[in-house]
Parts: sequence; structure tokens; C-alpha cells
Amino acid sequence: MLVLDGKKLSQDIKEELKVKVDLIKAAGGKVPHLVAVLVGENPASKSYVGNKIRFCEEVGYKSTLINASEDISEDELLTIIQDLNDDEEVDGYIVQLPLPKHIDEMKINLAIDYRKDVDGFHPMNFGRMAEGMSSYLPATPAGIMEILDRYDIDTDGKHCVVVGRSNIVGTPISILLSRKGRPGNCTVTLAHSRTKDIKAELLRADIIIAAIGIPEFIKGDMVKEGAVVIDVGINRVEDASKKSGYRLVGDVAYDEIAEKASAMTPVPGGVGPMTVTALMLNTLKAATKEIYL
Ligand code: NAD
Repeated sequence: MLVLDGKKLSQDIKEELKVKVDLIKAAGGKVPHLVAVLVGENPASKSYVGNKIRFCEEVGYKSTLINASEDISEDELLTIIQDLNDDEEVDGYIVQLPLPKHIDEMKINLAIDYRKDVDGFHPMNFGRMAEGMSSYLPATPAGIMEILDRYDIDTDGKHCVVVGRSNIVGTPISILLSRKGRPGNCTVTLAHSRTKDIKAELLRADIIIAAIGIPEFIKGDMVKEGAVVIDVGINRVEDASKKSGYRLVGDVAYDEIAEKASAMTPVPGGVGPMTVTALMLNTLKAATKEIYL
């Protein structure tokens, strides 16, 4: 079984990005500038944002963290968004999700200038993606595409079952894999909580993308021999043997499935690092105005 090592790929891409940033600097250009807006103190969000800022530092991007308090009003957050839209020095920015309940995430998403929307969540980018036009791809699906591409996984004509239909993972990856191209050209089934017989669907899959958010939901007997399995899930489960008191597991039962799959991503070290990496690739595109002027 081939381990699709997202951590190693991320490291490779980091080296490529460093070279590109050095070239920009040598030519007297402006280094990419990413801003991360974090609302509140959610530990998982803090850790994700911390990874993004660290990545920026490692490749030589400029980064800025705006940490707003948990009780910031929607209007105050919208003012921050407007300032970021207006600031020509900022190439791209993200607003880390989830936001506190009193803030309407879609309202915030719509307020982001799509030309700076390096998370690829704005309907302009989502719509362009669905139309097969160039756009900022949402980071997690883009990271998955990068894994499939760099490991040269054959997707052409394959049957892919995506489990989970969120706007940030399941739905966009189902669109990307069904589009013409490479990776792509799959016949895609998008399964979700209302799907009648998930096991029957999964057993027909050449490629499985699991984005459910339930620890080890997909078991060994739900996967056919030779399938490629991409595990997006990041779930904390209690583990008294760890100093932190928990360990991270994916949405698939790794050990059981490793015996049948031809290739799969580990958790951690699979899709997670490639999500951050894809965001950095989008930020470079924003800085070099590759998609929008
Ligand atoms: P979400 O909660 O928005 O969506 C979950 C989806 O799973 C829903 O569409 C739902 O229909 C489906 N689902 C729930 N229960 C189901 C069931 N019993 N049977 C079939 N389908 C079911 O989640 P999300 O934001 O897409 O995240 C999914 C997982 O991926 C989470 O563990 C999350 O932490 C992880 N995640 C990882 C990364 C990364 O970088 N690796 C990025 C985003 C999300």
C-alpha cells in the first residue's frame, strides 16, 4: 500500500515556494502578504491559524494575524473586512471558520473581495470553479487535487465516491473530480447523511474521499480491494496514553483499510498539511495576479 504522504509533499512545495519568493525579492518585487483573521480563542482554530502563519514565515511571505475578541460584533468584523479589501498591500486574506454563533458566516463570506479570497469560499470563486474557469480553489479540495496529481493517481474514468457534502470539502471536490482534466474525468457519487446504503456505494468506489467528521466511520469491509482512499477527517479522540489526553484520527479506520487499499492518506500527515500548502499556492497566485488583475 502506497502512503500518500502529504507532509512530505508539503515540504517539497515549501522548497519550491521559497525559490519563487527569492526570485521575486531578487527582482525587487513585493513578497506575497497573507492576513489571517481569527475571532475568539477556539484552540483548533488557533492551531490552524498558527500553522498558516508559520508556513508564511518559512517560505518568506509576509503575514499578519488579526485576533479579534469572541464578542466582536458582526458590523465590527465587516469593517475589518472592508479595510482588508481596501488595503492594496494585502494580497489575500482568510477569516478562520467557524465564527461565533452571533455572526452570519455567509454575510462575512460575501463581503470578502473575491480577488483576495484565497480560501476560495466566495460564490464568485466557487462559481468559476464549477464553470471550469480559473479561480482560487478551496484549500482542502485543492490540496487533495495536488496529492492525486503529484502521486500520479489515475482518476480518468474511475468511479469516485465522496462522503460528505460540505461547501468547503465534499461538494467542491465532487465538482473538481468530475470536471474535464487531470486529475478529473471521474464518475462521481456524492454520498451524505441521507444516503440510503453508504456501504453499497463505497464498495463500488475506485477512489474514496471521506469528509464526514466521524472518527473511523469507514471500516475495512466498506472498501473494495485496490481502492485509493483520501481521508480528510481530523477528529480528536480521548487517549489517556498521550500527554495531551487525545489523539487525532481520520474518518476511515486506517489499519483495517490499509490492508485493502492500493494507496491512502494518513491522519495526521495527509490532507491536513496539503490544505495549508494549497492556501499558500493561492496566496502566491493572488500576489502575482495570476487569476484576477
Ligand atoms: P461538515 O460537518 O460540514 O460536513 C460533514 C458531512 O458529512 C455532511 O455533509 C454530512 O451530510 C456528512 N455526514 C454526516 N454524518 C454522516 C453519516 N452518518 N453518513 C454519511 N454522511 C454523513 O464537515 P466538513 O467541514 O466537510 O469536515 C469533514 C471532516 O474533515 C471533519 O473531520 C473536519 O475536521 C475535517 N476537515 C479537515 C480538513 C483538513 O485540512 N484535513 C479541512 C476541513 C475539514
